[in-house]
Amino acid sequence: MAQSSPQGKKKGKRFAPLPTLAAAEGQLPWRLAFSAKLGRHAVADRDLPAGTLILTEKPLVAIPRSKAAGSVCHACFAELPDSLKKKGKEGFNPCLPRYCAACKASGGGAGPAAAQSRARALCGLAAAFVEHELLHLLVLLDVRRSGAAEAPVGVPLAPPQPDGAPPLLRCTAADADALPPPWHHKPEPWRKAVTAALRPLHRALAALEAAAALPGYRAASLAQLQSDAAMLICNLQGVGAEHAGQDSGVGLFPAAASLNHSCRANCHSVTMGQTMHVRTVVDVVAGQQLTLCHAPQYEPRPVRQAALLQARVAERGLACACERCIEPLATSTDRFLEGVWCLACTVDVLVAVPPGTPEAAAAAARYEEQLAAWDAEDAAAARKSRKGGKKAAAEEQQQQGQEAAPEAANGSAAAEEEADGKEGQQEGLEGEQAEAEPAYLCVPAFLPADPPLPARLPARLPTCLPAANGPGDVMLQADKLWQQGAMLYQVKMAQLMPQAEEFLRQLQQGVEGRLHPYHSRIIDSLSPLISLALRRGDALAVFNYSALLWEAQHAVQARYSLSQLQYLNAIIDTSAAKAAHAQSAVVKRQFEKKLKAAQTTAAEIRRVLLGKS
Ligand SMILES: [Zn+2]
Ligand SMILES: [Zn+2]
Ligand SMILES: [Zn+2]
Repeated sequence: MAQSSPQGKKKGKRFAPLPTLAAAEGQLPWRLAFSAKLGRHAVADRDLPAGTLILTEKPLVAIPRSKAAGSVCHACFAELPDSLKKKGKEGFNPCLPRYCAACKASGGGAGPAAAQSRARALCGLAAAFVEHELLHLLVLLDVRRSGAAEAPVGVPLAPPQPDGAPPLLRCTAADADALPPPWHHKPEPWRKAVTAALRPLHRALAALEAAAALPGYRAASLAQLQSDAAMLICNLQGVGAEHAGQDSGVGLFPAAASLNHSCRANCHSVTMGQTMHVRTVVDVVAGQQLTLCHAPQYEPRPVRQAALLQARVAERGLACACERCIEPLATSTDRFLEGVWCLACTVDVLVAVPPGTPEAAAAAARYEEQLAAWDAEDAAAARKSRKGGKKAAAEEQQQQGQEAAPEAANGSAAAEEEADGKEGQQEGLEGEQAEAEPAYLCVPAFLPADPPLPARLPARLPTCLPAANGPGDVMLQADKLWQQGAMLYQVKMAQLMPQAEEFLRQLQQGVEGRLHPYHSRIIDSLSPLISLALRRGDALAVFNYSALLWEAQHAVQARYSLSQLQYLNAIIDTSAAKAAHAQSAVVKRQFEKKLKAAQTTAAEIRRVLLGKS
């Protein structure tokens, strides 16, 4: 274990080592290190190719999520058979334990036998924390800390595996004590609210100690509960999330929590039962920092930052400074997630630049210059053929109404439009509106000319845009389509689905081709569109939407995720069905080729993320 630096000693807790990791040193392919810049961080001891298992860990404490408590096993968090499920909503109450057949049979250790005796002891306390996950986890951590009710777990739980896999670890409360942040780093309103909830809990724990229901139990001080609450809220992780979207429990894994966050992480964690498995997701070389991602990967920077702050309950002044977040937007794939096509060069997207900077002033001047040039062009064109232009626009509108199936190849139906000129495109863009626009910067201005960027915009620009069509207007329209589409979709009423699908389809087509195909709103729209197409039994639409989503996710973040696996499986199912029922040999071959490619990639993702083929 590396020694803490002089600065580290001064700051105390933030740089403390984890005793369990220190004990397991030499058995893991990585270790904790300290630096002024990164604080405590995990460093690879040797080259770790993609898919290397670097950590297996049992939680120090874990409970089922309140919303899942009626339907999952309280020991392994696996979904229960229907006969054992509680109908309707049930918060997690330790007095009403539910176990699957396998967990009931195994008993012993930290399984149901010990859990049941602990649950009985905590029954009188349950009213204080049923429905409050954080309070319940605090109680369990407190019980573990005093070593009561369950035999203290030795570390490591299992020796290193013969195949070179790391030992199975279970950390202790001493490891949790080494995790940041300290209580005083939390915002004051949060500390006030939590303290109000902790006071009655503290009294109840003191009563538990007095009643001697748990042999050897000694209640924690209020200060200890506060410090644990601050640590827990920042370090909890979902459990039972082998498949994307399934999060049946929540727990504390101190060893995994000692890896720093990055929005472009090189490791990925999956829990199977209660055991967390952390694997490298790209090739890592010796000496490199190991990171995990706790933010939504396919969202723009501001959304990721907000989600991180939310998850950590706004640790003071903490903004993500990972390599993905500090890379200039103009050269980062992040620009596609919030980018609107630049109509001046039609080569790359416009990105908003921070107001008040010299770039912002230059960009605003350039943008207004361009708008003025277009206005002059349009005025000249309108003078030339006023009547003809209006007629063409009306015909165009009609065509748009009949526009049907989504495009598989490039995600933009606009490419196929037989638009006739650009009449009407800038119509209604008044001078005042152009001035009210925020400053936008066309990205190629900041990119090297060599190699040239591929021209991704349809050769003909879409016409019939609504009157106000500056970048800000396009983003407003996208937000509106998403809100309307998602709201109707979530109501889940059959008669509303066609309308929901129409809004989402307009969004998926990039608000008439103005959004980049990897825009986060387009990515957002695809998942519900796949569900709706599945419900309709439209295999071709499922295939097309899944292919677009897979491509966008992989292009934005060039590493595998479990959600990609989900969409690849949809591609596999639909292309197999399409190949089986193809009318022509050519179509059959095409789908067979796509099927094979998807199967190969899916197998590779399973190997890297799940360690199985
Ligand atoms: Zn179970
Ligand atoms: Zn980041
Ligand atoms: Zn441009």
